[in-house]
Formats: sequence, structure tokens, C-alpha cells
Amino acid sequence: MPAVATKQLNHDFAEARNLAERSFELLIAHRIAPTPQHYAVAYLYAAGTHEELRATIDQRLQSGRSLDAFLFSDLHERFVAIDPYRNLRGVGGNLQQLVESLAQSVGEAGAGAAEFGRELEASLGHLDDLDANSDAQAIEQVVVRLVDATRSAVQHNDKLQQQLQTTLEETEALRGELEQQRRAALLDPLTGLLNRRALDAQLDELMAVDSGAPLSVLMVDIDHFKRINDTYGHALGDAVIRNVADVIRKCIRGADRAVRYGGEEFLVLLPHTGEEGAAQVAENIRSRIQSLRLVRKRDNFMLEPFTASLGVATRLREDTRESLLQRADVALYASKGGGRNRVTLGNAPAP
Ligand code: GH3
Ligand code: MG
Ligand code: MG
Repeated sequence: MPAVATKQLNHDFAEARNLAERSFELLIAHRIAPTPQHYAVAYLYAAGTHEELRATIDQRLQSGRSLDAFLFSDLHERFVAIDPYRNLRGVGGNLQQLVESLAQSVGEAGAGAAEFGRELEASLGHLDDLDANSDAQAIEQVVVRLVDATRSAVQHNDKLQQQLQTTLEETEALRGELEQQRRAALLDPLTGLLNRRALDAQLDELMAVDSGAPLSVLMVDIDHFKRINDTYGHALGDAVIRNVADVIRKCIRGADRAVRYGGEEFLVLLPHTGEEGAAQVAENIRSRIQSLRLVRKRDNFMLEPFTASLGVATRLREDTRESLLQRADVALYASKGGGRNRVTLGNAPAP
């Protein structure tokens, strides 16, 4: 339901105050700025009324990972704000109908005008056939009226047709714009990769296709990214994220998909790729990130090299979206635990 989730809340003063305090505590503990959007997510979490939102945060906490502003903004967009994607899709559908009915009107107006002209011509022919006893003046008046009517009908139709054509062009331009916005709603603005909103649909689609076809996912997480932010500042941190996204983009091909999954976490979907192929892609990403040498343009300052850890999971027949991602996540954290800057295969039998 694309309604504002906070509307469902109706707490009395004491209850709301208690929840507000817990919301702030949560935000402060994780050093997330208490902006209205982040606060709304924290409040919903504290209230426990939104199942999916609560589960997403709990999963993060249970796997020992920190909460951050990226996650809260994403949750706000997905569960609190009115869903722009869904709304746009509705508008797009209506516009499609409008454009189609307009196109039909234009066609009909053109055909109508031509038909009217033909009919009038036929009347004129009949008038020609009238005999000598007919009142010539009366007949002439009829002819003049007919010609006038014809001209005005044709002119009117021309104008109508022009108007309809203009409206049609404007409407089609609008539809193009909406389509662009709809696509933009599925992209992460910092990196241009797909966002989490797009992930679920993409992964479901891939998993729906023949459960026997190989499918692998990679989870990529930049190592000690907090340190990068703390040392160089948030803006350079963002530049690092963008460069890692570029590396990932370069390492994948046609049907593969890359998603910005968290602040400094990425997910790569590799259809038609078994564990061995996925491990190769993962290793390629890892080694290219390690080799990145980033230079700040302003003063040619060179950042310290940095690394990333990766987890690979290849779909088993019984996998759900969650179990597949979970295995990639466990593998990623094994890479972290094993010393970082490495690739772990999530499907490998336990040692
Ligand atoms: P680890 O090696 O265990 O992954 O450590 P880490 O420091 O990379 O991981 P952690 O999850 O503790 O920290 C991630 C940090 O990323 C915390 C958060 O402030 C920062 N971050 C999240 N989103 C963004 C973003 O969009 N831009 C920048 N610059 N930083 C972000
Ligand atoms: Mg990290
Ligand atoms: Mg992380």
C-alpha cells in the first residue's frame, strides 16, 4: 500500500514519548543524524508496527553490522514515503490510454472530414442533375450554403486535427519524461548502479527463470571504509564508493546486474554463472579494487590504496531469494573474519 506508514500510528503522550526517546537513542548510538526521515524510520522500528522494516534492521543488527544513514534513507524511501515508483507507473498507464484514445480521435477527425467532403461533393452532383424547371436561385442558395458548410467543416476539422496532434506530441513527451523518472527511481544517484528497490524485482525475475539454470550472487564490501571516511572526509569517501562501482561495472557483462546494496556494499547478480565463473568475477573485482590508485584532482593528493572483501553464493535448487543472499552475506563475513581483501565461496563445504 503506498500510504504513509506513520499515519497508522496513534500513540498516547506517554507511549509516544517513550518511543521518541528510544528512537533518538538508536540514532545516536549508530551516529545517524536525527533528520525527520531517519527519525521516522527509527520511530517505526521502536514502535514495531512495520514488519519488513523491523526485520531488515534486526537482521543487520543480528549479523553484527552497523546501521547507517544509507540504510535509513533507503528504508524511509521504501516504507515511509509515498512510493514514487508505484505512482509514476500509475500515471504512465493512464497516459498510455490517453495517448491511444487521442491517436484514435485524430484518425477519426481526419476520416470524418474527408467523408463530409465526399458527401457534399455527391450532393453537388445531384444538384447538377436538377431539371430546368427548378428555381435556379433557390438551388444556387443551397449550393452556396453547402460549399460554406463544407469549407467550415473542413477548416474546423483541420484545426481540431492540429490541436489533437499538438496534444498528442505533448503527451508523448510527457510519457517519455515519466519513463525516464521511473527508470531513475530504480537507480542509485551516487553510483548509477541499481538501487535496492530494483534488486528484489531483478532477483525474483532471475530466480523465476528455470530453477536449474546456474545463478550466482557476489556481495562486495569495502574494507575499513569508516577509516577512509574519517581520514579523508565524506566527499572523498563518496568518490571511493563511485570508483568501486566503476570497477564492478567494468568486471561484469551483458545480463549481469550490479546493485548498491548498502552505503559501501554492493551486490552483483550473475545469471548463467556457476560457482567457478562467479569466483573468477569476484577475484577480478577484488584485485582491481586493490590496484586502484585514486588521486584528488584539486591537489594531486594520492589516497592510500584500499581493499574490499567478497562473498560468493551460487543458487541451490531449494534456495529462496533470502537464503541465497544470506549465504553470500555469511561468505562475505567469513572474508572479513579471515583478514579481509579476499573472496570466500559460500557454497564450499564446511572445513
Ligand atoms: P569493514 O571492513 O568491517 O567493512 O569495516 P567498515 O568500516 O567498512 O564497515 P562499517 O559498516 O563499520 O562502516 C561503514 C561506514 O560507511 C559507516 C558509514 O558512515 C559509511 N557510509 C555509509 N554510507 C555512506 C555514503 O554514502 N558515503 C560515505 N562517504 N560514507 C558512507
Ligand atoms: Mg565495509
Ligand atoms: Mg558494510
